[in-house]
Amino acid sequence: MEVMIIGGGIAGLTLALELHRVGIASRVYESTPEFRAVGVGINLLPHSTKVLGDLGLVERLAELSITTREAVFYNRFGQFVHSEPAGRHAGYDWPQFSIHRGDLQMALLEAFKARVGADRLQMGWKCTGFTQDGSGVTANFVSASDGQALPPQRAAMLVACDGLHSAVRRQLHPDEGAPKYSGVNMWRGVTRMKPFLSGASMTRVGWIVPAKMVIYPIRDNIDAEGNQLVNWVAEVTTPQYEKRDWNRAGRLEDFIGPYADWTFDWLDVPAMLRNADMVLEFPMIDQDPLPWWTQGRVTLMGDAAHPMVPRGSNGAGQAILDARAMTEELLKSNDPVQAFAAYEARRLPVTSNVVLTNRKNPPDAILREVWQRSGDKPFKRIEDLISREEIMAISDGYKVVAGYDRKTVDKAA
Ligand SMILES: Cc1cc2nc3c(=O)[nH]c(=O)nc-3n(C[C@H](O)[C@H](O)[C@H](O)COP(=O)(O)OP(=O)(O)OC[C@H]3O[C@@H](n4cnc5c(N)ncnc54)[C@H](O)[C@@H]3O)c2cc1C
Repeated sequence: MEVMIIGGGIAGLTLALELHRVGIASRVYESTPEFRAVGVGINLLPHSTKVLGDLGLVERLAELSITTREAVFYNRFGQFVHSEPAGRHAGYDWPQFSIHRGDLQMALLEAFKARVGADRLQMGWKCTGFTQDGSGVTANFVSASDGQALPPQRAAMLVACDGLHSAVRRQLHPDEGAPKYSGVNMWRGVTRMKPFLSGASMTRVGWIVPAKMVIYPIRDNIDAEGNQLVNWVAEVTTPQYEKRDWNRAGRLEDFIGPYADWTFDWLDVPAMLRNADMVLEFPMIDQDPLPWWTQGRVTLMGDAAHPMVPRGSNGAGQAILDARAMTEELLKSNDPVQAFAAYEARRLPVTSNVVLTNRKNPPDAILREVWQRSGDKPFKRIEDLISREEIMAISDGYKVVAGYDRKTVDKAA
């Protein structure tokens, strides 16, 4: 039994490593001719670092990333709203990591080559579609560099981990509507700078009207001066957006306006933006949850299955949980059709709920409440606007939806 995995991103490589852990063979087909450390920061919460820990990757990831100490919230006047400890600092057995997406990708790739084998990864193979029959799946490919047809590949089953623009999802759901724009455009970047706050703070500031910002360090001690690489995401209410592309360059002058006076005693935001190494632009977009992912021996995983707006640090995490669930189901049943149906039954309702909650009530809803109740003005005492209990109800409620509350993580196999 061999599993054909389309896409060698976070979901695809984690799935291959998970399958290898339990002795199931796989082969990965990736459209990019060569991986480069592209993207900016992402967070891995304890539900997914547990899976990566079982794969023996936590020490390596800790070297590459920042072990997040706290999640902290401020309004746009730089006033402190809320802070709570994160990962091991909050008593979990597993850490939270803030990491460059490229570093995570490279760590997974390193482990894949060492364990599964470099010959099990085809680079520059772009999947264009599939056919299936009672005994297997045949996938078609073209070369990503010259568009020439490559030999069709056959396996017992196919898992599509081909991300936001999934070709397999398009084949399964040809009439799916256009992606849903949230009304918020994002400009993302990284800046080399001295640590701010605890030096390991996942920081959210302000609300999307007029503008919000998420800021956290992703690499420590990057030079002799003790600088960190700090990831930031500017979220600005914007009526229009350009087509989504993870690597599209953005321009500082298009978004710096609302942040011009964000010079706080704990961080100079405009200076951080002006000193950025690079700026990328990406619309905050998702898709309505699908009614089904699986057709016989073919199914979807990660962003191909459940693209979500990045407002709960769960894009990579849910992809990693998908990989664990799929592995468990393939261990229970040798029949791919049965295993895929069980995987979908476990993961589709949960991830659909995350997609919908990210739209309406992600953790940063704490800042929406403060914005509304203060009339977007500085406050005298935060307790007069919102109680600690209300804040924790938003924060803890989201943890349950996304599956990283202490009880769920502790009892996961
Ligand atoms: C270049 C890039 C940069 C990113 N940057 C960020 C970021 O800065 N912040 C953030 O939160 N998230 C980022 N993401 C998304 C993040 O990795 C995912 O949301 C999450 O990790 C889920 O992973 P995934 O494996 O489902 O999707 P992805 O990590 O997107 O992986 C999908 C993979 O499939 C490959 N692929 C696509 N189409 C085909 C095809 N037809 N045939 C074969 N292979 C195909 C892609 O090249 C990619 O390697 C980025 C993704 C990419 C690809």
